[in-house]
Amino acid sequence: MGSITLSNIHKSYGTTKAVDGVDLTIEQGELFFLLGPSGCGKTTLLRMIAGFIDPTEGRIAFDGTDVTHMPPNRRNTGMVFQSYALWPHMTVAENVAYGLVLRKQPPATRTANIEAALEMVQMEDYAQRKPNELSGGQQQRVALARALVVEPDVLLLDEPLSNLDAKLRLEMRVEIRRICKKSGITTVYVTHDQDEALSMADRIAVLKSGTVRQLGPPRELYRRPATRFVAEFLGETNFIESQVASRKGDTVTLETASGPLQAAWDGVELADGASVVCSVRPEAFRLAGSADEVNLLDGTVAEQIFLGDQAQNVVELRDGSTVRMLELNPGDSSSKSSRRLCVDPEDIVILHD
Ligand code: ATP
Repeated sequence: MGSITLSNIHKSYGTTKAVDGVDLTIEQGELFFLLGPSGCGKTTLLRMIAGFIDPTEGRIAFDGTDVTHMPPNRRNTGMVFQSYALWPHMTVAENVAYGLVLRKQPPATRTANIEAALEMVQMEDYAQRKPNELSGGQQQRVALARALVVEPDVLLLDEPLSNLDAKLRLEMRVEIRRICKKSGITTVYVTHDQDEALSMADRIAVLKSGTVRQLGPPRELYRRPATRFVAEFLGETNFIESQVASRKGDTVTLETASGPLQAAWDGVELADGASVVCSVRPEAFRLAGSADEVNLLDGTVAEQIFLGDQAQNVVELRDGSTVRMLELNPGDSSSKSSRRLCVDPEDIVILHD
């Protein structure tokens, strides 16, 4: 149990279109991310799945059953908020018990379920503590246990790590994924943090202005962004202006101000002479080992941030344009030294907007 289908979902507040036509299916057991900048509509979408907000238009189904206007308490979802929202006067065990008491579960079964939920989040030794006697990460685990103990069909997480410090956030990413996968629960996770989404998700929907701009597994979105917005939102990149010179089989030759580049063809028809923008990640540039490499670009390091294991270089190419390039294990040569870069055709992504 637990697939979620959103069909043509809209939500307007006056003239503001918070969500503007979203269609997607989240599979049973999937850890699915709604990712996007502030105001893109991700929280509104999550709250409509929870039932706290009614869509202006469209249909929400759980396992094919229409729940669009069903009240939250009948949807069997568990929600974890940014602020944890634990009851301060209750112990950890009492907090976790809360949903079971509401559901009138008999005390004997309740105790066993609370123990199992606390074990799942590795908090079984803290059952008698109050929330203010716990660290932020421990409080977040209790909030997760409280959501999971009622055995929801769907777990909804609204920026659950944003109140934690950087180290705890990294630990909890691994933990939350472990817990979701172990319990097999369908999970929808809202965040604006692309690293969180890339490191945890089965699939990500990238949202902007209330619509899904691209949907796919993390590797696919990072390596093959379809648009400038997605390429930029999911990490650092270089945009290179070019014209289509020709296409032969799976290779497109592009003319740029710094010379020709060969890119892997993505199947989208391109007219000869068309202007296109490509995305090349800084880590996709390599130092050329020989003159036989494809896509050679000569330049000079104009700026360098040396970080020991790597150097972040700004390389000025012959035509005066610059690209950012990540150099691993940088040697002794520092700024102003020349570099011959190359990049594999499959790392040059032709964008389509
Ligand atoms: P954030 O990351 O900042 O929480 P978000 O992507 O979750 O942003 P939403 O909270 O879904 O964005 O809001 C989407 C748009 O809808 C925003 O422009 C917001 O101002 C607007 N909005 C949200 N709730 C309401 C409301 N109750 N009344 C009016 N406008 C609203």
